[in-house]
Amino acid sequence: MAAVPAVKLENGASVPVLGYGTGTAWYKRAGAEDIDRETVDAVATAIRTGYRHLDGAEAYGTEKELGIAIKESGVKREDFFVTAKVNKGIGDIPAAIERTLRNLQLDYVDLYLIHEPFFAKDDEELQSKWAEMEKVQQSGKARSIGVSNFLQPHLEAIMKTASIKPAVNQIEFHPYLQHGDLLAVHRRLGIAVEGYSPLTPLTRAKGGPVDGVVSRLAKKYGVSEGNVLLRWSIDQDVVTLTTSSKEERLKEFLGVVKFRLTADEVDEISRLGREKHYRAFWKSKFDPD
Ligand code: NDP
Repeated sequence: MAAVPAVKLENGASVPVLGYGTGTAWYKRAGAEDIDRETVDAVATAIRTGYRHLDGAEAYGTEKELGIAIKESGVKREDFFVTAKVNKGIGDIPAAIERTLRNLQLDYVDLYLIHEPFFAKDDEELQSKWAEMEKVQQSGKARSIGVSNFLQPHLEAIMKTASIKPAVNQIEFHPYLQHGDLLAVHRRLGIAVEGYSPLTPLTRAKGGPVDGVVSRLAKKYGVSEGNVLLRWSIDQDVVTLTTSSKEERLKEFLGVVKFRLTADEVDEISRLGREKHYRAFWKSKFDPD
């Protein structure tokens, strides 16, 4: 089984560069009071295949299923990197993290994120919620804390009053959504980027300008087109989150550990990708008509 290498966050925590998401494909199935066994089995398959970085969120309704799969796996707790996110529960973060830990049957999460910044009416509200997140880390219920879907102004707002810096910002990231110089901004601030929806050019936005180069590089390296897109993201130091309902695909994704793109190849995909703009998530918030 190919082990996924890890990178270190600025606070010293190690994160496997490829994570398995329990949102998107899964959230419509779970979320009811009953446990959705299909989702448990899917996470169990991902764990068995070799994934240890598991991305969850209160909003996905899959926390209980994720917790059962972790427990039944027999893998040691400390070998997992488990992320949770607060969204609906943002009004009472101490209660939200307690609920999440109960659902997950865990004593702590490795990473706890504010799922999106759009709840806040002003910078003060973002700052006061960040102060509550810092208390979660200080209590030991989260080893690291961070944010998701934050833009530069949101990051700068919380950095003004933070005593603990966000370890991570989890954003949509693929060739058709490169966010200008946002990666460089993160590097300057010492905040790691996690990217979700890396396969968008193959799935939701097929038929775009990167198709040709992605297919050429897949042939060159003897890998799938999906692997080229995952590698494009990882080769820019982005901790990358994907998912699949298919064991074969989950195994195939792990092939990313066996090759790297050259800097020129990364640049070629980036240059062609900038010819198209596509956002899959949080569209109404980021691109209001
Ligand atoms: P991806 O872009 O990696 O897409 C994965 C999906 O693509 C799977 O459903 C898979 O379907 C499908 N797929 C894979 N390969 C192919 C192919 N060759 N042809 C057609 N379809 C293919 O990531 P997601 O958008 O699913 O997001 C991954 C994770 O990121 C989520 O589960 C969640 O944890 C996180 N996320 C976070 C958000 C946030 O706001 N913070 C928002 C969105 C996602 P199949 O099952 O058939 O293999």
